[in-house]
Amino acid sequence: MAGGGTARLEASEVELLRNLARALQDLVVYLVESNLGEISIEIGKKDHPVKSIADKYRVPLDTLLEEGVKRGFLKAFPADKLVFCPKCGGFSFKVRYACPNCGSFDVERNTLFSHVTCGFIGVLEEAPRTVTGKVQCPKCKRELVREGDDWVKLSSTWRCRSCGTSFSYPVASLECASCGERFDDKRAEYRAVMRYSVDKKAVSEAFSQIFNKRVAEVLASQGYVVKPAAEATAMSGVTRKASLIAEKRGVRLYVHNIFPREGNVESAKDEVFNVYGSALDDATRRIIVAVNTPTQVARRPENVETIEGRSLEEAIRKLQEKLRGEK
Ligand SMILES: [Zn+2]
Ligand SMILES: [Zn+2]
Ligand SMILES: [Zn+2]
Repeated sequence: MAGGGTARLEASEVELLRNLARALQDLVVYLVESNLGEISIEIGKKDHPVKSIADKYRVPLDTLLEEGVKRGFLKAFPADKLVFCPKCGGFSFKVRYACPNCGSFDVERNTLFSHVTCGFIGVLEEAPRTVTGKVQCPKCKRELVREGDDWVKLSSTWRCRSCGTSFSYPVASLECASCGERFDDKRAEYRAVMRYSVDKKAVSEAFSQIFNKRVAEVLASQGYVVKPAAEATAMSGVTRKASLIAEKRGVRLYVHNIFPREGNVESAKDEVFNVYGSALDDATRRIIVAVNTPTQVARRPENVETIEGRSLEEAIRKLQEKLRGEK
């Protein structure tokens, strides 16, 4: 390796960081819109929404998830590996043991044991039982009391009752609870699973910033001068709770970006209601841009307009259409 030049990021690294930032934004939007408390991602499975986001921006899935953890949006649970149905991807099964020779399910375990007390050695499963279900020594007729004490297990083998073969381990045969597919370890999908809990507060905060930025971009593209909420609040007490303040040809517009923070639709509806209340005190035009929040919460004041979207994309598109039509 030649020395120098390492301080500067390679063009490909810059590209990766830019794509990672975009992918992270999409991840935040997905987490807020889906309102999931937890996500689990099977490594190697193709169609998970988070995997699609990573693919869209050509960012490795691991990198995206790590970044999500680093930013405090996700918290990783210990990694696990699970068996999945090769046909439908399900992961709950009925399990049967089969003979490795003929495939019959009629197999039985033979445990060789020794009765320390009298020295007898025999098969545990074939030993007689007392009326109370305790195992009895076939030789001295005494009850086996405590394993490792008066009796010990020596080894266990399996035997097929259909073909008579003996073997150390039976084959586990799984029947998928979802689709009924039957398979064994030769066809089972055995994949790592990563589970994360979602910090709804952190993703809501990040979503709020993305929301404001996207709306500000639309307003700016239509010739508005846009100021963020903090500045707007300082300018006038009445504008409180406006997300953005926009101005065009001396006419002011308050924009309220509302969505269910931490999944709470009721408090989002309260926010809409508060905007209606503020609008009665101040004739300035207001636009509510609502994602996944109903805006018909009361009689709407005349200086308030509303836009509803089931996703951020839909709300942004409708806002664009509305403002374009006002030229
Ligand atoms: Zn299945
Ligand atoms: Zn057999
Ligand atoms: Zn005995």
